[in-house]
Amino acid sequence: MLIGLALALTPHASTLATPTPQADSGASAQAAPKLDPQQVLWRGVDARRAQLRVRELVALGPRMGGTRSGDAAAAYVSKAFAELGLEVRIVETPERRTWQPLAWTLSVRVEGSQEPARRLERAWPWHNSPDAKGSALLSLESAPSVAWLTERAGRGASTAAVILASRPATSDGSWPVPGRLREGTAQPCFGIAKPEAELLRGWLDAGAKVRVDFELDVETRSAAIRTVVARLPGRKGGEAWKAPYFLFCAHGDADSGGPGADDNASGVATVLEIATAWKRAIDAGASAPVHEVRFAIWGSEIESTRHFLHTRVPADGELLGVLNYDQSGFGSGADQVNVEPDDLPGNAALVNALVAVMRERADADASEPGDFPSRFATNKSLGGTDSYVFSDSELFKSRALPAVSVFSSAWGAAGEHKRTSGMPGESWRERDKVGVDYDLYYHSSGDTPENTTDKEPWNMAWCARVGCLGALRYLEALP
Ligand SMILES: [Zn+2]
Repeated sequence: MLIGLALALTPHASTLATPTPQADSGASAQAAPKLDPQQVLWRGVDARRAQLRVRELVALGPRMGGTRSGDAAAAYVSKAFAELGLEVRIVETPERRTWQPLAWTLSVRVEGSQEPARRLERAWPWHNSPDAKGSALLSLESAPSVAWLTERAGRGASTAAVILASRPATSDGSWPVPGRLREGTAQPCFGIAKPEAELLRGWLDAGAKVRVDFELDVETRSAAIRTVVARLPGRKGGEAWKAPYFLFCAHGDADSGGPGADDNASGVATVLEIATAWKRAIDAGASAPVHEVRFAIWGSEIESTRHFLHTRVPADGELLGVLNYDQSGFGSGADQVNVEPDDLPGNAALVNALVAVMRERADADASEPGDFPSRFATNKSLGGTDSYVFSDSELFKSRALPAVSVFSSAWGAAGEHKRTSGMPGESWRERDKVGVDYDLYYHSSGDTPENTTDKEPWNMAWCARVGCLGALRYLEALP
C-alpha cells in the first residue's frame, strides 16, 4: 500500500476558511466608539484555529516551491486571505525544476518466515529520488541490484536498486532527515529511522535473508514558485500596493521537504492568525494600523525572499520593516519565545517593542493556562533564516530598517549564545548568555502536527500576539 500524501483540502478547510463576522463592518464601525486594537487583537488570535491550519497545510504535502503541493498551499493561503476580505497578489519567480514525492512504500520481510512484511513507517524519500518500484535483497555492501543499508549514502550514484540510509537523522536517531541526491540519480534513497536500521542489522546478523519491497512515485516539473501577498490598508491610506508598509512573513515550504509542521506550517498559521485577528478587529470597529500592513507567505524560503527583495522593493511601496515567523509552533525544551537578531542596530527598536509586550503580559495576571510563555529572550544572529535576506541587504543596512524573526525553537539541538550587550537577553535570569530552545523533530519526517504543533498550539498564539502588538506599537512610534 502506498502512503499517499493527500492533495486535497480536508473537510475542515471550508469551515475554517469561512470567516465568522463579529460585527457589521459598516454601520457599527461608524456608530461605536473605537475599540482598543491591542485588546481586540490579543483576544482575536486563536490557537485552536492555528492548530487546525497546520494540519491542513501538512496534509497538502511538503509544499516545496513550484511543486504541486506548493501550489496547493499557495491556493490555500490565498483563499484564507481573500475570505477575510484582504486584497491578494501572487508573486511568481521564474520557472525552475522542482521535485516532489507523491506517494511511497517501503517494507521489509525475512524470507521464509511466516511473519508478515513490516512497513518502515518513518521512511522518507530523499530529494531527487526517481520513480521506482521493485524488490531486492538487503545488503550492508553497495552492490548491483541489492537494497543497500548504510548509515550515510552520500549524494552520488550507487548501483544498488535502492538505498536505505539511517543518517542524517534527528539527534536521537529516531526520525530520518531527508537528504539530497544529485539530480538525475538513477536509484532512489530512503531515509529510515535508527531503530528500523537496527532491526534490519539484527536480522542480517542472525543470518536471515531480508527482502525489501519499495515503490516511489514522484513528480518533477518546471514551474514558477508562488508567493502569496495580502494587504491590510493603514489609516494613512495611499494608492493600493504603493503605500509604505510593514511586512509579516513566513516561508510556506517545508524547508527539508518533510512534513514541515513546525518548520514551517506553524509560521504560516501564525501569519494567518495575525491577518485574521487584525482584519476582524478593524471590522468590529477597532482602528486600522497607522501604516499599511502586508502579509507574505514565501513559496520558497530564501529564493522567494531574494526575488521579492530584488523585484518588488521599492516598486511596491516603501518597506518599513519585516517580522518573520519560522518555527513558531513548538519547542522541545521550554515554554519559550525568542526574538532575533538583536545585534543589528536597525533591529533594536522593533526588538524592544516586542519584548516590552512580553514583559507587560508576563507581569499581568496570566489567568489562562498556556496564556503566555514562561520565558522569552533576545539573541544574536544565528544565520539561516529568511529575515536575514532583508537585514543583510544594502537597503536595510543603509536605512537601519528592522527585519526580525520571532520563534519558539530553532535548529535540532539546544543552543546557547553570547548575549548582545545592551539588549534584553533572557527574561528569567541575568547572565551573559542566551538560551535558544530546539525542536527534536527539526527537518525530519517526524515534524508532524502530532509531534509538534498539536502538543503546544499555544506557541503560535503567543508568537502571533507578540508580533501583532509589537509591530503595532513600533509603527505608531515611527516619526
Ligand atoms: Zn524554517
